[in-house]
Amino acid sequence: MNSQLTAYVSIICTSGVLNLYLFLYVYVNRHRYKRIAHIFMVYTATIAVYCFASAFGLLATTLDQIKFWTVMQYVGMPISTPLGLLFVMQYLGISISRKKAFSLLVVPLITLVMVATNDWHHLHYRVFEIDSSLGAPYIRQEIGLWYTIHGIYIFTCMLVALLLAISHWKETAKNYRPQLFALIIGQLIPILTAFLYLVGLTPEGVDPVPMVLWLSSLLYLWSIKSSRLFTLMPIAKDAIFNGINDGVMVLDESRQLIEFNQTCEEYFPQLNKTLLGMDFSKIWYPLSGNSVPLNLEVTSQSQEVQVIVNGVKSMYQIRISPLIQGKNSKGLILIFTDITELKSLQTKLEYQANYDGLTHIHNRRAFMERCVQDFEAAKREYTPFTVILMDIDHFKQVNDTYGHHIGDQILKHVVNICENQLTEGLVFARYGGEEFALSLSGYTAIEAAALGNKLRKSLEIQNLHSAEGDIPVTFSMGVAEAIQEAKETVDQLLIKADKALYSAKQSGRNQVHVYTEDKVKAG
Ligand code: GH3
Ligand code: MG
Ligand code: MG
Repeated sequence: MNSQLTAYVSIICTSGVLNLYLFLYVYVNRHRYKRIAHIFMVYTATIAVYCFASAFGLLATTLDQIKFWTVMQYVGMPISTPLGLLFVMQYLGISISRKKAFSLLVVPLITLVMVATNDWHHLHYRVFEIDSSLGAPYIRQEIGLWYTIHGIYIFTCMLVALLLAISHWKETAKNYRPQLFALIIGQLIPILTAFLYLVGLTPEGVDPVPMVLWLSSLLYLWSIKSSRLFTLMPIAKDAIFNGINDGVMVLDESRQLIEFNQTCEEYFPQLNKTLLGMDFSKIWYPLSGNSVPLNLEVTSQSQEVQVIVNGVKSMYQIRISPLIQGKNSKGLILIFTDITELKSLQTKLEYQANYDGLTHIHNRRAFMERCVQDFEAAKREYTPFTVILMDIDHFKQVNDTYGHHIGDQILKHVVNICENQLTEGLVFARYGGEEFALSLSGYTAIEAAALGNKLRKSLEIQNLHSAEGDIPVTFSMGVAEAIQEAKETVDQLLIKADKALYSAKQSGRNQVHVYTEDKVKAG
């Protein structure tokens, strides 16, 4: 064996040993690494096979031996390139389905079969013989159709991997650039060598690619050991953008839509890539079903906006912030947070805080709040102000006779009758168990008593129709009007109304009594 051949074999063996070492190193430490290390292991193993088969090929002395080692090279080399692509894609956070990943291995497997059976069809090598002038192990070959197809495929895989890695350079954080740099150069070295080989700029008769693979291996080794490839990896910005739970839209300076994330697509099903570049004000209505244009002013305040998609109403809180790009910050980032559930819970809680669950009229808390407001307003405007307290007669007896559920029906029955008689705007509330209250702004005691009597008579003539039969119901009322000169409070006024109510009860019930300073009289 001449010295040149010895040098070739040594260099190729170095590449093989380094790849084998990489494989073993990652294998031994695999439990510390992320999933990406698995694909890298197979990648380095196939390269090691390629290198060692290539080295043994150079030690061969007969055509049969050379052919055997060539087949062995093809066990590793064609598969290593798509594996390299998959490795780079996984590193960059570009995910593809398992099916697609496996389909990348179809051409390499066909190539292996083609090479192993070449003597029968000569589709890979048209001619494959020992170089007559150089002798074994140098080969004179003429390439066949499948060699070209395979070559294009291998080149494409390597090129795509390289271009993908380069295209992510800008958006990769500085800390991770050494890793990415190692990947780019690691991919570039075999591509460049294979290209030089194809244009005939490398020594004749031998494949130079395994001779340079040790360089790529050293880069990977450095990357794993010093920049912690496999333990610390950048997460692709796309993955972050699409992983945000809020919907995000990006507009440029002329308010055209230039980007949106996956959550936004879920919020607005009509949203798709064809809308990119369109004026946001024009797409807002078709997307949201909301005819009010969105206010795109940048403020610290968020907006709450209703969206109707396929008849379903949702509420979104929208925050708008400027998009900082260099010195000019002209774009906008719109962040949509789904607050539909929050809003409905808020509405429910507000309802529970202000309304009675059984009769659905205002509760005592809401009554007191409104009553104080109306009372103060009446004082300012010198208008009369009156309250009425009502209490169902002999209610305990009804409960005892017919049961609590009938008692509940009576409460609803009373509310129905009163609401039918009362004009809107008056505050009618369930004041206690079976007590009701009315706040009457602008009513004198006489007017209030008249209204009270109207309600009383209405109830008196309408029995409750229940499963237990018709049940007569009556109630008594106490009326108290505020005295403009006296500095009284709502509580004091209600005490007066209660006294009048007590008087109505004492006088036989089903009556309306009005409180006056000296005595309570029938209204
Ligand atoms: P009076 O004519 O003097 O008012 O007699 P009364 O039996 O109505 O006496 P009172 O006003 O003290 O009765 C209150 C009763 O109301 C006691 C309680 O069992 C009943 N009650 C209070 N809240 C409810 C309710 O939500 N449902 C039912 N079914 N009963 C209630
Ligand atoms: Mg009572
Ligand atoms: Mg009662």
